[in-house]
Parts: sequence; structure tokens; C-alpha cells
Amino acid sequence: MENNSISAKAEVPRWEMGSIYSGFESEAFIHDIGALDKVLSALEFSLKEPVTSDTFPGWLMGAVTLRNEADSLLVSLSAYASCIYSADTNNREALARINALEETALVRKGLEVSFRNILWKYRLLLDSAYSALPELASYKWLIDEDITARTRQMKPPLEELAEDMKRCGAEAWSRLHQQVTSNLSIAWDEGGTKQKTLNELRNMAYDSSREVRKHAYHRELELLKSAEIPLAAAINGVKGSAVILNRRRNWKSALSKSLFQSRISSKTLKALISAMEDSLPLWREYLDLKAGLLGIPRCSFYDLFAPIEQIGTIGTWSYTDAAALVTDCFSSFSPDMGELAKQAFGEGWIDAEIRQGKVGGAFCADFPRQKVSRILTNFTGTFSDITTIAHELGHAYHHRCVKELPFSQGQYPMTLAETASIFAETIVLNRILSNAEPAARLFLLETHLQDGCQVIVDILSRFYFESAVFEGREKNELSPAELCSLMEEAQLRTYGPALCRDELHPYMWAVKSHYYESDLDFYNFPYAFGLLFAAALYSRYEKEGSDFAETYRLLLSETGRLPCEQVCRKAGFDIQDKAFWAEGLSQYAKTLSRLKELS
Ligand SMILES: [Zn+2]
Repeated sequence: MENNSISAKAEVPRWEMGSIYSGFESEAFIHDIGALDKVLSALEFSLKEPVTSDTFPGWLMGAVTLRNEADSLLVSLSAYASCIYSADTNNREALARINALEETALVRKGLEVSFRNILWKYRLLLDSAYSALPELASYKWLIDEDITARTRQMKPPLEELAEDMKRCGAEAWSRLHQQVTSNLSIAWDEGGTKQKTLNELRNMAYDSSREVRKHAYHRELELLKSAEIPLAAAINGVKGSAVILNRRRNWKSALSKSLFQSRISSKTLKALISAMEDSLPLWREYLDLKAGLLGIPRCSFYDLFAPIEQIGTIGTWSYTDAAALVTDCFSSFSPDMGELAKQAFGEGWIDAEIRQGKVGGAFCADFPRQKVSRILTNFTGTFSDITTIAHELGHAYHHRCVKELPFSQGQYPMTLAETASIFAETIVLNRILSNAEPAARLFLLETHLQDGCQVIVDILSRFYFESAVFEGREKNELSPAELCSLMEEAQLRTYGPALCRDELHPYMWAVKSHYYESDLDFYNFPYAFGLLFAAALYSRYEKEGSDFAETYRLLLSETGRLPCEQVCRKAGFDIQDKAFWAEGLSQYAKTLSRLKELS
């Protein structure tokens, strides 16, 4: 790729929001807020209406339609408020709207409990309801899922109490984790005055000087140790609440709840984990190679993200060139995906400018009412900025594939959420790779393996750790020392001899916010699922060429209304078979041998 330094900063755009809502006081916004209230009242009313076996089919169709109406309004309004806020965190009105919509979301959630109870009561009438109303039959699997959810819910007043108490229970513990970690700082040098925050220290893992990385790592561990008591209390609080509620709700374990949320079977998870375990020698070989390139005998935890000096980087792109490149890559895959990119760049979907008051990172927000998406990113022109845009546009493409479906049929689980985004990234990465100079190619291959190593090896260590935490927490609270030793054991089991035994990261449990999510446990394996599923799809694309584009579009359109196994079977994949996951991993083995050849 050509090297273009960013010349015209002004070309980096802000997004266009006016066509979604032209403000919180706009007619359309006020109208939709009113419509949401009305739909929720109608839904509440229908849940109190007496239902008989004769009226059940009509009642169910009505309730399902009202739920779709309410959710698509709620999601669109909330996405708008949070986009406005993310682009300007000083906007107090946006924050107030977010809070008000959160309250509405709680009301909506409460209605779900009653809906499932009625569904449960009349479940034997479902088959005749499907014959009476064919439109209802397209919801069959989702309704079955609601029935399972009904067997995992407490009595309505208890569910209501649990929801209320969550705010000063698990969610409060989660906020404590956020507040403690975002306010921690430590002197850079013993006795010095220059302070470093936890984030600053963690970012130094990317520094090219090993001395800097090592020093930052030791300061980080010291900093986390200083806060280990409240942080351990927070993780014990979150996981303790989960243990109690899971037991009350008849979940066999936190993992079985997580499998349900992910829409996969335990057989699928076993196949995935076992393939990840089998691939460990590959990743250890990569880390040994990396150590060699860094000129050290063995990597330590603080070398995992180290840039390799002699490789260098691949320069920067202007925003206009980045847009042209991504559009071109997407169009080369399919006209449909190309259209999406043209629409996104041409109609102001992307806020890429860096400015004060705007949040960091990147996300894609979908607006089901308006059938469009918006993307926030912070563009500096680096390679990773390009893949980030591709990633978020991949999410937007996923939304494009489901936007015409009834709302609930387009809601995919976290396991499938990252598929479209990673697939889009892969298209762009491979295109850049094929045009790159040898030095740039080395950089790209190494970066690709570095990312893969995180999603396979580190994620596996997090899965082991979280399993051990649940096992321990069921018996008693875990001390900071116990948490540290569980973390080290998990890292030793995965990174193995590829990392220095005495320079692992025992405090990773204190860093990763995923362990502190009140409603989501095991928010780790879905990442590996997404990565390897996308890799397997890409292998298939390489074999089938452009014919694959239509299979891909159809597959994405099914992601919200079937369990993952069935979605994947439609594409010809058996995800309960370890060989499927090994196929995705083999892409990384290929990358490693290319890296070895080039270095
Ligand atoms: Zn994503």
C-alpha cells in the first residue's frame, strides 16, 4: 500500500445524526418516546387480559408484535442518546435521556416475566397456534427459547426484587471495580512525583523499549496489589450474586446459563475448547519465534504486545484513502457489501474525528427503526484504524442483513455477533497483505498472530480462571492471594513454557472488566468462537470465491432466529465437531509458517 501521511485533517468526518433524529426536542424524537410509552402500556394491558385456549393464538401474535415494536423503539432511542453522549460526554441532556431510557428498559424487562408465565401456562397449545397463524411459526424457535427461560425464572415478585436489588448489589460491585481501577495511580519511580494511571501503565505494554515495558509491568502489579482488597471484594460480590441467583433460578451452573445466552450446546463448547487446547503448541512456537525476533531467550507477560523493531510499521493512510480502500475491499467480496460501505462513507455514518469530550475506542450502533447504523471511531491513519473501520462496518453489514426481519428475529447472540466484524477485517487484512512490501508483510503477519494469540491463548486462560473462580466461590469467598494463584495456574496451563514462569500476570483478574459484568458470565469463549468461526468462513470463501457471498449473506440473516449449531449447519458446518474449529486454527498455522519464512 502507498504511504500517505495525513495531509488534510479536515477531511476526517463527524457523523450525520439529523436524519435519525434532529435533536431530543425534535418532533420525531418526542413522537417515538410517546409511541414507546403507548406500546408498553398496550403490552402490559395484553398481559393482564384473560387468555383462553381460543384466544391464545391471537393473543400470542399480538404480544410478540408489541414486544418487537417496543424493543425496536427502545433500541433506536437509546442508541441515539448514547451516540450523542459518546460524541460529547459533556452533554448533560444526553446523559439524562440515557438514564430515563434505562428506567424504561427496566419496565420492559419486568413485562417479560409475565409474558413467559402466560406462555408457559398455554405451552401445549403452541402447535395448534402455529397451524392457525403461519406468521407465528417463524418465531417457533424463539418461543421455545422463552419457554426454557421460563423454567429458569423465579416467581414474579422475587424477579422484581432481584432486579431492584441488583443496582445496589452486583451492579454496585461492578461500579466499584470501575471506580477503583480508573482512579488508581502510582509514582513512576520509587519516591518520584510523576504519577501514572493504570491505563497509562497498561498502554506501555506496546512500548518498543523492553526496559520501559518491564518497569511499567512491575509498577502495574504494585498498583493493583495496593487495591487488591476492594477489588477482591468486588469480584466476590459479583460472582457471589451470580451463584445465589443461578441456584434460585435452577441453573445447573453459571456455565450452563452462559451456554444458553450464547445459544450453543455444551458439546459445541467442548469441541471449541478442545481444539483451542490442541493449538497451544502452535502459539507457544509463535511466542518462541517472537522472543527470537526480540533478541531475548523467552517472552515475559510484558512482551506479548511488544512491537518488533526490525519489522517497523507500515505507515499511515489518509481518511479518504482508507475509505476508498475499505470500499474497494468490500466491493471485491460482494456488490452488496460494497453498497453498504458506499452508503456508510457517503451518507455520514461515521464519526472518525478525534476531539475533546468524545469517548475513545470504537463501536457500531444500529437503529432498527431507521434501518441504518452509525459508527464511532478515532481515526489517526494507522493500520489498526483501518481494520477498526472494517470491523465496525462488518457489524453494520450484519445489521443490513437482518434489518427487514421482525426485531426479535434479528437479535443474534454474542457468539455470532463478532463473526461479521472479524470476517470484514479479514477481507481487508488479506487485501493489504497481498499488496504489501516484505517488511510491511512481516508487520501484518506478526500483528495478526499477536491478536490471535490473545483471542485463543489468553481467552483460554480466562475461561480456566473463571471456571475455577465459580468452583471456589460456591464454597466461600476467595482471598486476593487465592485469586492470584488461580490466575497464575490458568496462565501456566495455557502459555506454558513460552512465558517466564516468574513474570506472568497474577492480577489479570483485577484488570479485566469482563469478570465484573453482572449479567454475563464467561464473557470469554464467545470471542474465540467469533474469531474461529470467521476464520472458517474465510477458508470457505477462499475455496468458493465470489459464489460464497450469497451463502454468507443468508447465513448472517439467520443468526437471530436459530441456535448457532443450526445457523452453521446451513452454511455446511458442523460446529460440534472439533475438526471445524481446527480448520479455523489452521489459518493461523499458515500465517506462522509465512512469518517464519519471512523472518
Ligand atoms: Zn465488534
